[in-house]
Amino acid sequence: MKKVFNIGDFRLCQEGVCNANMDGRDIVCVMPTGGGKSLTYQLPALLTPGCTLVISPLISLMTDQILHLRESGVEAVMLTGGTPRPLLNEIQQRLTSMASSRAHGHQGRDIKLCYVTPEKIAKSKTFMSLLRKLVEGGKLARIVIDEAHCASQMGHDFRPDYKKLSILRQFFPHVPILALSATCPPRVLQDILKILKMKPVIDGKAAPPDGTVYFSAPLYRKNLHYIVLPKPSSAKELIVTMSDYIMQNHRNDSGIIYCLTRKDAESVAESIQAVSNDRIKTGVYHANVEDEQKERLHMQWREGKVQVVCATIAFGLGIDKGNVRFVLHHTVLLAISQKSLDGYYQESGRAGRDGQDADCVLYYRPQDATRQASITCSDQDGMVKLHDILRFAQDMQECRKILFARYFSESSDLSMASWTTNESDAMDRCGHCDNCTRLPANVEHKDATVETWQILKILEAVEGSGGRLTISGLSDLARGLGGGSFETGGGGKRRNAKEKIQIDYDSVAGGKVRLSKDDMESLIVQMLVLRYLEEVFSSTAYTVNVYVAPGNQALRLTRFAREDIVNGGGPRIQCSFRRHGRKVKSKKAAINGQSPDMLDLQDSTAAGPSRIRKPA
Ligand code: ADP
Ligand code: MG
Repeated sequence: MKKVFNIGDFRLCQEGVCNANMDGRDIVCVMPTGGGKSLTYQLPALLTPGCTLVISPLISLMTDQILHLRESGVEAVMLTGGTPRPLLNEIQQRLTSMASSRAHGHQGRDIKLCYVTPEKIAKSKTFMSLLRKLVEGGKLARIVIDEAHCASQMGHDFRPDYKKLSILRQFFPHVPILALSATCPPRVLQDILKILKMKPVIDGKAAPPDGTVYFSAPLYRKNLHYIVLPKPSSAKELIVTMSDYIMQNHRNDSGIIYCLTRKDAESVAESIQAVSNDRIKTGVYHANVEDEQKERLHMQWREGKVQVVCATIAFGLGIDKGNVRFVLHHTVLLAISQKSLDGYYQESGRAGRDGQDADCVLYYRPQDATRQASITCSDQDGMVKLHDILRFAQDMQECRKILFARYFSESSDLSMASWTTNESDAMDRCGHCDNCTRLPANVEHKDATVETWQILKILEAVEGSGGRLTISGLSDLARGLGGGSFETGGGGKRRNAKEKIQIDYDSVAGGKVRLSKDDMESLIVQMLVLRYLEEVFSSTAYTVNVYVAPGNQALRLTRFAREDIVNGGGPRIQCSFRRHGRKVKSKKAAINGQSPDMLDLQDSTAAGPSRIRKPA
């Protein structure tokens, strides 16, 4: 390790994985990005006879590894669809002669590591028969599946060719498999084991003699500072907010802005550069950008000629830049599209791979939830995912680390301990996320049971008269806007029988709900998350409308009379509301002692002006 890789000590669970590897075990190893997964097979590859086969999803990742290995004097090759014929022949020749060589020791020119794309396994018969020869000659030491979550449709970055890797175990039942990933929630793990036909993981690390040994290093990375910021209602203002944020906190740092759509990525890139008077140089990355242009952008970004990449989630796996100091999410919608909180964790985790401090900012506005709901409703799992991330974004109290830990350990036997090195402090707060550092003046945690009860009563009254409401419709009506009336019908058979009905607030709900627009919308999202409300979808030929209806918890509350609720009876509902408060330093500024760099986490109302102080 020292001689070849110039690495002095093992990190995280590297030593255990290397040992299990040397013992020829099947292994799943989950370590955060940048944790050092490569060493866990590269070192054993040098210490065992034969060749280690590595399956990797991206050519850029492989090229990187091969360069490093060659620099260290390790015989490593890669085979992809694009490998030129003469080189392909030469490599195949070398592998064939290794396979038939009787020697069991180390041969000078033996290929120690062979990197291939999954297509090679799925599509090349020649390559599969070459592997068979290696196995028969006892020269295939192990099979490594890098980024193994690509095999599961439940993860993100699903790649169909990864699914076909099942033939590896089928054809070569005795070659150990090492599956590596940085992101592996329980259901994805189970899926990977099934697809790769690996034995079940039993009881964490203690596996039976032929079981799969499972290793996980703390997923929590203490150099990442998570913060959810209120998102201005107008697109233009959001651009100014983001541009100010970058100028104030990351003037000369590299970063990523994740956007929902290709169009968003393009317009955000253009506007940020314009708003900052070209001081922030941006680039665009999405699936429709030409490969050549993507390559160029990677290069310019690495060299710092482009400061910020505005991208869709297509920008991901191939990122090998260590000094990404910030990742901004333009919208919470993005984090849930097809994915969930693990998607957000993965995307934000592209920051700070070098171990230095980095900021992960999510711009959130409760109203985004409805837009997302209409996208998600066709998906079985979609609403669950939506609520997972809303719960995360909406939470202004619990430490972000603990929220992630809860999410990742839900319904699994993997303990919360996988989030820290020390089991006893598994539930300690991180001390540096927005919720840990929030000033009391910036938030109000409030018992909102009476308001919740009122909102439900008003909704019941509307439904009782044949009306239905969207989230913003409910918000307005409950606050007494629009004259306090609503229309019945609007769909189905009653389309032609619209009728305006006036709400009698006093008799229905004991009065209007006295909350500001922003507070009201926060509470409604909270009610959705807690299932006091639920989304109802109604599709027309052109669009899907999202309405709200009382959820399965509603009766627990509405069966009480107003007096009981006011007097503290019934279930209580807590809600956190953003408040204007004093300015606080950004975490990074605080750490670096850059006192002039003040970030205003002022919790301005979402629509309010940007309050970030201009540079001196
Ligand atoms: P991963 O695949 O888990 O994202 P890599 O294997 O690419 O991470 O390693 C990330 C970086 O960490 C590499 O530059 C590698 O050389 C370095 N590294 C790995 N293990 C150690 C170690 N034990 N000590 C110091 N640096 C290490
Ligand atoms: Mg890696």
